[in-house]
Amino acid sequence: MVSVDGDPGGRAAGTDGSAALAILGGTPTSRARWPPWPQVDDATLGRVGGVLASGRWTVTGAWTGRSPLDVTFAKLFAAYVGTRWCLPVDHGSNALLAALTALGVGPGDEVIVPGLTWVACASAVVRAGALPILADVDQRTLCMDHRAVEAAVTGKTAAILAVHLYSAMAEMDELRRIAARYGLALVEDASQAHGARWDDLGAGAVGDVGVFSMHQNKLLTSGEGGAVVTSDPVLHTALEQLRGDGRRYRPDDEPRILGEPDLEEVGDVQGWNMHLSEMQVALLLDGLERLPGQNARRARAVRVLDDGLSGMDGIDLVRPYARNTVRPFYAYVVLVEPAAFAGLPVEVICEAVSAELGTRVRPCIVPLDVHPLYEPARHPFGRLAGWADQLDPRRFDLREAHAVASRAVVVPHPLLLGTDQQVHAIVEATDKVRRNAHLLGDHRP
Ligand SMILES: *Cc1c(COP(=O)(O)O)cnc(C)c1O
Repeated sequence: MVSVDGDPGGRAAGTDGSAALAILGGTPTSRARWPPWPQVDDATLGRVGGVLASGRWTVTGAWTGRSPLDVTFAKLFAAYVGTRWCLPVDHGSNALLAALTALGVGPGDEVIVPGLTWVACASAVVRAGALPILADVDQRTLCMDHRAVEAAVTGKTAAILAVHLYSAMAEMDELRRIAARYGLALVEDASQAHGARWDDLGAGAVGDVGVFSMHQNKLLTSGEGGAVVTSDPVLHTALEQLRGDGRRYRPDDEPRILGEPDLEEVGDVQGWNMHLSEMQVALLLDGLERLPGQNARRARAVRVLDDGLSGMDGIDLVRPYARNTVRPFYAYVVLVEPAAFAGLPVEVICEAVSAELGTRVRPCIVPLDVHPLYEPARHPFGRLAGWADQLDPRRFDLREAHAVASRAVVVPHPLLLGTDQQVHAIVEATDKVRRNAHLLGDHRP
């Protein structure tokens, strides 16, 4: 039997070696089935069924004699993050808008946002009526570079929106220093970092206000969902009414009346309805119980990946800042050196590795200056005089973001819940594609 490169067992059909790669018809590195996400069992179904039977489907519904799950989850999640308060909301995008609105960000203001992040981070600023200023990233972490942030500060800057991309945290000490120096608010988007830590502080508890998404893909999910966290009493008061059309929880010592609305109407701010249904909150309570175990499991997978990949030629790994002591791994990012992969575009490398694993690994998010879903001038505010030019994302210099995006292979978190053998297959598949990359010269994405 011919032993071909990358297939020491000689199982591949081709004798010239080209069939060794799964994408060229060779034997894949792994055939095992990857873990599903989200993870659900009878306990999950029981929790949701309990809500359905309870007659209380939302926090805005009538008092039934029992405190809504929304209140329970808010307390538990605030404790998990390390803030005084949490307000569950319907989406991470709305959590961002609520945070900015509570801080008083609006027309005439600028908000500094990383140029490499999900579109909602910038579009929430536009929805608040403010101008997103895109800052370049640090290739070591893929997070906003504090030097680019400081260079972008103007007399109109109102806030910095830090994003912990793929679970590596932004340099929060530097961003706090800049915020304090120029009198700016610091919003922390921890949508990809449930459970990350900056020394003794949880991600979301470092800035003035923290934002989470609980979308289906996130580490804690109710399908759609989100949360805003803060320890600032003024922000808490504003956020509570913003999310509830001006309503808020009654004080604990106030009597409730069966069948009467449980929330009290205040109206200090003009809000909108961002409440979750109680069925969704039941899923969050279920997920929050599983999260520490899942994070531990992912951390173990990451040790396998770090061990296998760190010495590999042409591979670089994310190097978190020293004070970012815990990463929960929304994704594991492998930075490839194109030259070591026969100069192939990262899209082709991802396709080849995906074929080996029987599941998708992907390039990272597209920088916002060219992201097809970021067209802020098409928002109605784009019609305001002079705004279209200022909103144009192409005016920002995001060369580091583009450089790192051309090298990043993103391994999504469900793969990190696989068996040790499956996780090790990610190392083997990467190595196999690297050693056989020259065979993919004509392969275009
Ligand atoms: C997912 C995500 C959001 C948006 O959350 P939705 O719940 O989808 O609205 C915002 N910021 C970041 C960094 C995200 O990853």
